[in-house]
Amino acid sequence: MRNIVALLLLHFLASASLAQTGFKVVPLGVMGGTMDGNLSAYMLAPAGSDAYVCLDAGTVSNGISVAISKKSFNANDETVLKKYIKGYLISHPHLDHISGMVINSVDDTVKQVYAMEHCIGVMKAHYFNWQSWPNLASEGQAPALNKYRYQQLAEGVETPIAESGMSVRAFPLSHSKPYSSTAFLVKHGDEFVLYFGDTGPDEVEQTDHMKRVWAVVAPLVKAGKLKGVFLEVSYPNAQPDRHLYGHLTPKWFMKEFEVLGGLAGKENLRNLNVIVTHIKPVGNNTETIRKELSADNNNLGLRLIFPQQGVKLELK
Ligand SMILES: [Zn+2]
Ligand SMILES: [Zn+2]
Repeated sequence: MRNIVALLLLHFLASASLAQTGFKVVPLGVMGGTMDGNLSAYMLAPAGSDAYVCLDAGTVSNGISVAISKKSFNANDETVLKKYIKGYLISHPHLDHISGMVINSVDDTVKQVYAMEHCIGVMKAHYFNWQSWPNLASEGQAPALNKYRYQQLAEGVETPIAESGMSVRAFPLSHSKPYSSTAFLVKHGDEFVLYFGDTGPDEVEQTDHMKRVWAVVAPLVKAGKLKGVFLEVSYPNAQPDRHLYGHLTPKWFMKEFEVLGGLAGKENLRNLNVIVTHIKPVGNNTETIRKELSADNNNLGLRLIFPQQGVKLELK
């Protein structure tokens, strides 16, 4: 009997040590404008799972094809779209964050669309309204075909992401007043990933929205439970503050991480996974932004990740 208990215990310990932790990300699109086959969309799942949520959905089917060609999925396009993506988290209704989802909705299966109130209002009024596109969603202009189910997120309230084992809390962001966007804090077990939709810096937007998000995640950073942060940089430092249009430059990006460092302890930001999103690929801007971020990163030592379309990332 004792042997059996010992064996069971060994088995349990072995499987526990094999259990995968962290998250995986497959970027379906990474750019912040103009490249209409490569716009913001990031599939996120717990490590070892194929139940993803898609963070924004500027590009969907083209990104899936590229990801399959890069061996990030061992499945066909239809399976990835219909089975792997369990739902969409939409940060704000700008076309570069939503057009892929709208276009693909005809071929897609029933799933949940999570967003804050304003964003759902725009989807209802301006996209799924039978004029811009058939109303494949659950509310709005009749008849509502009820394929995409709107799930309204209230600020800070934990909401399960159906069929994914994950949950999400949403926080409002300022994206050039009066326009708003959203940060999503995704949870799986005791681990977290933070995704920022488009946002301006608090100082320029004259809000405390980013600081409020930093305050929520600071204890998670201290405890080593925040596995990654997605934050945008749209323009190089040469862009004047009055022409940011609710976006960040490398300088403001680092200033915002300094705010987090002030709350969580700078030493705890060293090697934090930070995925740089939404670069607008104008002229040499991609290269300039990379250089400016890297030069400014000496102080904090973030692990800066420049995602590529279709190339899988692991956040441990
Ligand atoms: Zn955008
Ligand atoms: Zn935007």
